[in-house]
Amino acid sequence: MPSLTLAERASLVGPLDYKILKTIYSLHSNHEWIMTSELVEETGLRLNELQPVLLRLYNLRLLSKQIISGEYSYRITFTALDILAIKKLYVEKVLKNLGIVIGVGKESEVYVGYNFNDEPLVVKFHRVGKRSYKNVRKIRNIQKDKDWTVISVENAEREYQALECVKKNYGYVPQPYGRAYNAVAMELVESRELYKSELTNPEEILDQILSTIRIAYNECKMIHGDLSEYNVLVKDGTAYVIDWPQWASPENEDLLMRDVDHILAYFYKKYEIDKDVDAVIDYIKGKP
Ligand code: ATP
Ligand code: MN
Repeated sequence: MPSLTLAERASLVGPLDYKILKTIYSLHSNHEWIMTSELVEETGLRLNELQPVLLRLYNLRLLSKQIISGEYSYRITFTALDILAIKKLYVEKVLKNLGIVIGVGKESEVYVGYNFNDEPLVVKFHRVGKRSYKNVRKIRNIQKDKDWTVISVENAEREYQALECVKKNYGYVPQPYGRAYNAVAMELVESRELYKSELTNPEEILDQILSTIRIAYNECKMIHGDLSEYNVLVKDGTAYVIDWPQWASPENEDLLMRDVDHILAYFYKKYEIDKDVDAVIDYIKGKP
């Protein structure tokens, strides 16, 4: 059923389906393929109760299966992980409905959603898959055998942590509203990316970005690690630094240098604002 939206698929997942998806997810921290016999043991269901549910979840493309040692074994798909997240955000009263996709990145899908007051928000689903896996592992030294579900959930946790800390300390980032599994719910910034914006106040925007980087560094001990004109949103003359899952700790000086280089180069090229890199680095490192 490839034409169903994520929200439609989520609505087809009932309590027993949910329980089984959750069980398979929790077993993934140990290994990738979960045997039917393990599921019988974990859930306490009989084989003839379990089998139709597994088939249904497979047909909904929420499970992949393969035969291992003569037995069907399962793993959850990205969509299943997204649905676990949607259900949890719903239970926690963060998200009432999921809307349309507004961005598909290398490692995520970004949706508009609605809270229980029918106000819009953003849900970012981290999807660290095979395509980006090698790269991520290289950057962050992740163990070879870590399951992609585990990495995607860790990415969401890291992004939430960064948004929470930087926002609390008055940096310019979207307000985080909640996190579940691989999803982060946050403020919808109705905006354009910096690279698509024609700024009337470029100095002010650059100052806001640098001040956010300084707050992250000093108060949160975080270096963004992927700062560029693509990861800054501009709304009504205010800059919002987004996309934080890859943040690194302050000893990664080279990353701070690279972030600052990128952003200064952009403002120099487009707005002829000429700032001294060393002075900016000193400013970022200086105590508030
Ligand atoms: P990419 O791989 O393209 O860098 P990503 O997976 O790293 O993407 P983000 O950069 O966080 O993810 O988000 C992708 C896009 O989704 C953004 O460029 C922006 O258009 C949109 N977006 C993300 N967060 C928000 C938000 N809080 N409000 C509005 N739009 C957002
Ligand atoms: Mn991005």
